[in-house]
Amino acid sequence: MILTRRQTLLTGAAAFAAATLPARAARPEYRLHPQEIASGVWLFEGATESFDPKNGGAICNIVMLASHEGAIVIDTGGTARQGAALRAFADQRLGGVAASLNTHHHPDHWFGNQAFADRPIHALPRTRRAQSEDAQVLADGLYRILGSWMNGTTPRPASQDAVAGEMTIGGRELEILALSGHSQADLVVQDRQTGTLIAGDLLFLNRAPSFPDADIPTWASAITTIAQIPASGYVPGHGPYHRDSRAMGQTQHYLSAMDARLRGAANNGLTRIEAMAAGPMPDYAHLGANPQEYQRSVIQRWREYELRALPILGQAG
Ligand SMILES: [Zn+2]
Repeated sequence: MILTRRQTLLTGAAAFAAATLPARAARPEYRLHPQEIASGVWLFEGATESFDPKNGGAICNIVMLASHEGAIVIDTGGTARQGAALRAFADQRLGGVAASLNTHHHPDHWFGNQAFADRPIHALPRTRRAQSEDAQVLADGLYRILGSWMNGTTPRPASQDAVAGEMTIGGRELEILALSGHSQADLVVQDRQTGTLIAGDLLFLNRAPSFPDADIPTWASAITTIAQIPASGYVPGHGPYHRDSRAMGQTQHYLSAMDARLRGAANNGLTRIEAMAAGPMPDYAHLGANPQEYQRSVIQRWREYELRALPILGQAG
């Protein structure tokens, strides 16, 4: 029997589904491993991978700050059930939920909002707009990848505008920064009591940055802004908590390496497929979620670089 390419792909997909069936037959469950990284600062560290049924979409870092009125929840996870698991921790250990904040509109960070919707959920105005506009497309994509992990998830945009500056919730003082570059609106939070800086996806550590809405120069300058703030430690959007400048350095270098790679490929007349086939920049091939994240970045950003390179070809003629 001769299989067409499509049949081969479908057969491969079926084999994959069969191989993963035992793991998915059991009711998918989120196991939380919270760590108290500073006084009253709880980190739920995400897997440093791409969305996958193996991780249930629990790939981003979530932080809860203890306050007199309950937890201040920074990002809510990627599915309704992850949100519910997080909510149970807040209710049982931190006296309920005071409020939540969404750092930006990518679904891994806010699709758990449903579990927190009885309390205020804050996000920057442009994040709230993107949450409303993109919810359906983002949900469709995640249902396709995560399957039953997503059951019951209905994206619930944030309910309140976050404003840059000081914000006190349940006696806990926060400094809110309104930046952008990873997305159109990236919220950064610093906890005044401990100095912990929660950077959202402006910082990645040991995991390849994602670029679906990236503006590289703006992102780089947002990192420069973060670098000027004295902090006791950093929670990146993805990757481990740390106390030094590692994530700032790694993310900055990755951005410039990706920019140079795409510019070079477009200027040399490579096609998008060739740029993808070249694989991640060697220094970053080992990062979590690579090569997938590199390939996605090429797909997402290629057109800009090609358009920038084309006028030069035109002038040469
Ligand atoms: Zn993220």
